[in-house]
Amino acid sequence: MSSENSASEARSVESKISPPPLTCPRCEGLLPSVLGEISCLLCGARMKIDHEPTRRDWEDEKLSCPECSKILVVGLGERPCNIRCSSCQCEIEVKVNVPKTEIECPGCERRLRLRTKPGTRKVSCPACDTQFEMTG
Ligand SMILES: [Zn+2]
Ligand SMILES: [Zn+2]
Ligand SMILES: [Zn+2]
Repeated sequence: MSSENSASEARSVESKISPPPLTCPRCEGLLPSVLGEISCLLCGARMKIDHEPTRRDWEDEKLSCPECSKILVVGLGERPCNIRCSSCQCEIEVKVNVPKTEIECPGCERRLRLRTKPGTRKVSCPACDTQFEMTG
């Protein structure tokens, strides 16, 4: 048995740039922060979202290779996408940015960073188990 690591395994990095928060023209709910063909998670309306400045920022986005730390320019105007490190040749998956909201737990006043999602949902604090509703 050889102990070689598989060099072809994709590493992933989360993009730091997300499209501006947009609301659904039909139900005014928060839309998922991606570009292209999307459907509203709340009312199911389908639409095509595009945003030139975000695509340009995505093209110019710099990130460091998770393998060799070399700074790379992504050069692609879409997320998710795959790039190859020019230095160590590893493949990197650049994932969409998931916006997070910081809220305070009403039970223990701890600050929690939670993923932003459309609509209102019940969450429970990992520290004190208090259940509360969060919007967005
Ligand atoms: Zn909607
Ligand atoms: Zn590298
Ligand atoms: Zn708590």
